[in-house]
Amino acid sequence: MHLVLIGPPGCGKGTQATRLALAWNVPHISTGDILRRAVASGSMLGDAVRDSMSRGELVSDEIMTDLVAERLADLDATTGFVLDGFPRTIEQAYALDVLMEERGPIAVVELTTPDDELVRRLSRRRIVEGREDDDESVVRERLRVYHRATSPLLEFYRRRQALVTIDGHRAPEEVTAEITREVERGIHV
Ligand code: ADP
Repeated sequence: MHLVLIGPPGCGKGTQATRLALAWNVPHISTGDILRRAVASGSMLGDAVRDSMSRGELVSDEIMTDLVAERLADLDATTGFVLDGFPRTIEQAYALDVLMEERGPIAVVELTTPDDELVRRLSRRRIVEGREDDDESVVRERLRVYHRATSPLLEFYRRRQALVTIDGHRAPEEVTAEITREVERGIHV
């Protein structure tokens, strides 16, 4: 199973990705988590991405594509993955196509949630998890970036009939059940 989750910050991608990866026994690949670990470790990658992340801006397509290519080359990703946070731009979507050439089709799930609920969830997360980019002004920037750079991907995948849109404004287990149903019905490229 090669699943890509797309949705605005706070839509529940991370929660769903964790649950689905566990159920399907494939890795949950979160580019946000990989980048946050790099920042925390003080690596060269971390230094390169720290500023863009704290402003809610995107990290460059080159860095992201290299990072994902490297992660997909790991043994545990050979049978499948749940990708959370990539692609986020059309360029990244083209790069993913190249990476998937030998692997087969991907399924893409869009998770929707109203903006006021997103802001509510993220301000709660800021308190619980201490993520600096959940600060209100940064959240607004992340939402702007989502609408500008990432939401065009939805049309890109819809044209290929690889996309299903799911209402994320419900209990997590209901969302998981619906994603599972849709994916098992066989959405794919
Ligand atoms: P969310 O989806 O809640 O906004 P993530 O944890 O997925 O948060 O990402 C946090 C930050 O990491 C983003 O705001 C961005 O700076 C950076 N990032 C993660 N994935 C990508 C990507 N594919 N392209 C560019 N930047 C990324």
